[in-house]
This record gives sequence, structure tokens and C-alpha cells, in this order.
Amino acid sequence: MFNSELLLNSVDAGRYTTNSKSIQFGPWNISYDVSCILPSVCSTKVVCERDDDQFCQFCIYTKELKIPHFPDMVFPRNILKLAHESGAGICFNPLDSLRCVASRIEAIEVACAEAWQEARPEAEKPKRPFDWTFSTDYKGTLTDNIVVENTDEHINFDLLKQKEQILFYHDLTLFEDELHDHGVSKLSVKIRVMPSYWYVLLRYFLRVDDVLVRANETRMFHLLNTDYVLREYTVKEAQAKDLNMPTSHMKEADDVIPILPVKEKLTHKLIVNIPSN
Ligand SMILES: [Zn+2]
Repeated sequence: MFNSELLLNSVDAGRYTTNSKSIQFGPWNISYDVSCILPSVCSTKVVCERDDDQFCQFCIYTKELKIPHFPDMVFPRNILKLAHESGAGICFNPLDSLRCVASRIEAIEVACAEAWQEARPEAEKPKRPFDWTFSTDYKGTLTDNIVVENTDEHINFDLLKQKEQILFYHDLTLFEDELHDHGVSKLSVKIRVMPSYWYVLLRYFLRVDDVLVRANETRMFHLLNTDYVLREYTVKEAQAKDLNMPTSHMKEADDVIPILPVKEKLTHKLIVNIPSN
């Protein structure tokens, strides 16, 4: 079971999920939930204050996360799950992604931190500085029985471009913040299931207007009848002044990500079906 499944048992869980869908793909059950937005306050104070391990979603986020503020829009039950019949599983959820937001502040963010504070006079000054851009290096949540290995193998992008029938597709937003009109910070995950493979793109996109553009992307690819998933993690980033592109042309992530320089790339093989001896 994923740690994040504690959300399924929150006292207000029934209020959130609005839609779910799933598909069986060989030994995989692939499913997603769509939910409404995380409230900005506790919705069941009487229950949560009893301290008997029953909490609402908001209180779970507050307890589990080290950051003093959450993004404007968090979709707590927008979850993509890929469960293998061996018991292995991969999941993408906002709570785990926000666990990866640094509680330290980076130099580039300092330039805009004052603007952020001015734009939120109601916000209590954070007791310690944190990364208010919510930059996350989250690469998905894996069950313990998945073995992660380095590999030289790469995702076959030619195969991804081939025209095949799409069996299953969805694009889920995990969280989003407009940085109080200073740009956008957004984490989303897309799933595509084709007759011979499944493919996931988890994308964190940050645009601090006139300052910085950043994309942390995790791609996962699984070919039918293999026992592993390829995972490619790429960090791309540029200072706005180094991009020959006005901010107005960077509204969509797809407009600017292709021209960003790659800062880091990691490729791993996730072995999902370990034979038991
Ligand atoms: Zn609560």
C-alpha cells in the first residue's frame, strides 16, 4: 500500500472524488481519480481536534508537509495509479510531490520573495524561508518491491510517435499556483495507453515572469511483455534574459520547454516483476 493512501481514509474523503476510470493492460491495472480542490481550512474541526488519528484532507496536508503554504490549487485526490499483478505499483499524487518541495530557499527565488509577500499581505510571514515556487523533483511514488537500476537504455521516441489507437488517455493537474500573477507553477501528469505500451509524462513547469523558466519532467515507458519500466528524469532551466522569447510567448509549457537547455538527465530501469524463489 502507498503511504499516500492514508488520504483515502480521511474523514472527508467522500467529498472529493468526482470521477474515476481504469483500464486493464496485461498485468497492469491503470486507474485515475479526479477530485475537487483542497480547501484552505480544516472542514471538520470537531473531528480533527480530537487527535484520535482521524483527520480531514487539509489537516493531513498540514501534518505531513514541511512547507508553511500550499499552492493555491491542490487536487488532493487527483491520483494516477499503475498497479502490477505482482504487487508492485507506481503512483502519482500531489501529497508526495509536495513532500519533495525544498524547505530551503534558493537564490533565484529570493529576488521574487518580497513580491510574493507583498501580494499576500494576509499571509503570515513564513517562520522559515521556503521554496514558494513549489519546485519539486518528484518522480512518482514506487512501492518497495520495485528495484531501481541505472541503465543506458532510452525511451524509444520513434515508437511514441507512431500512429496507433489510443486505448486510454488522461491529463491530471496535481497542483497549480499562479505565483500571484508573477507566473505559473504547475504539476501535471498525463497517461497514454496504446495497444503495445503505456507512457506517462509527469511535468513540473515553472515560469517566474521575466526571471526564470524551469521544467522537471519524468517520463515512464513500459512495453507490453517486458518486466520493467524505463524512467527518464530531465531538468531543464534558463534565466528569462537568456531566452530570446518574450514572456507573452511562454504562456504554455509546450511553447518554451523545447528551447530550454538540459541541466540534468537521469535514466533508470524500474524492475517490476521480480521472480520469487
Ligand atoms: Zn481537519
